[in-house]
Amino acid sequence: MRARTKIVVTLVAAVVLVWGFTRIGDWDVWAQKGASEPAAPSASASEPIDPAGSSASSQAPSDKPAESPSASPSETPDGTSSFETGSKPVEEPEAVTAMLIQNAPAMTVKKNSDGLAVITNSDSLLVLVNKKRNLSSSYIPEDLVVPDVEFSFSGDSPKKKLRKAAADALEELFNAAKDDGVTLKAVSGYRSYATQKSIFDRNAELKGAEVANRTSAHPGQSEHQTGLAMDVSSASANFELETTFGDTKEGKWLAKHAYEYGFIIRYPKDMQDITGYTYEPWHVRYVGKDVAKAVLDSGSKTLEEFMESYDQQAREASGKAKS
Ligand SMILES: [Zn+2]
Repeated sequence: MRARTKIVVTLVAAVVLVWGFTRIGDWDVWAQKGASEPAAPSASASEPIDPAGSSASSQAPSDKPAESPSASPSETPDGTSSFETGSKPVEEPEAVTAMLIQNAPAMTVKKNSDGLAVITNSDSLLVLVNKKRNLSSSYIPEDLVVPDVEFSFSGDSPKKKLRKAAADALEELFNAAKDDGVTLKAVSGYRSYATQKSIFDRNAELKGAEVANRTSAHPGQSEHQTGLAMDVSSASANFELETTFGDTKEGKWLAKHAYEYGFIIRYPKDMQDITGYTYEPWHVRYVGKDVAKAVLDSGSKTLEEFMESYDQQAREASGKAKS
């Protein structure tokens, strides 16, 4: 019996002791924590302050440089966040440049078995279509929609359609024009390969192949097949697609503001040697706001010149990727 009570007493004492130690341990941790926050900087400051203090200014700021090394990892998020905000504006143009390199004309075309240069980036918003670069006869954009804008004609027609991004941008463009007292109307957007073929064939039949070549696009060579181009006109130009549209208030507004909404005037004056087409003040092509602005800033008058300026970088990049 006595032995049992001894054991019980020792056990209870042991439990109390262990409990006591753990509490003391807790208090120790609390005490350390509490102390380390306000006290540590000033205590540990004495060590790092010397190197920091000698290089940085001597007064209040010396507390801050001293804190960051002593208070350690918890401070790094501040450092990285300021780095991130600093690097963000640089990142956007880099992404645009990367996109342009990816879509450089030299790297986005392939000869088919008939020797025809066929475009390999048909779905890109930066696709370049011209008399040297053909869209496949089977290419149909998957995201065609009818933009909520005024048209020069009524009723349903595939030519009301544009790819979603271009349609949204056209709505913005037309609304902004309206805010400036300018009424634009959409005349002709998406055109399928088959439609372009029948237009070209009819022209060739009526006027001869030579005239058809000059005045209409070969099937596969029309930018309208991308769903990224819209012909625009106004009442003042009788909704015609004529160069006189460029002299109207509406045509001038369009030339000035199109880039703000991601469009470029695709066939400027006196650039037919490069674009293959004479002046078309009515034909706008969507490339996105960043690129439209970049085209303007670059001083390039044509999409051909602008895109080709990335050919060299694209060749180098693919060379690096291969090696
Ligand atoms: Zn057009």
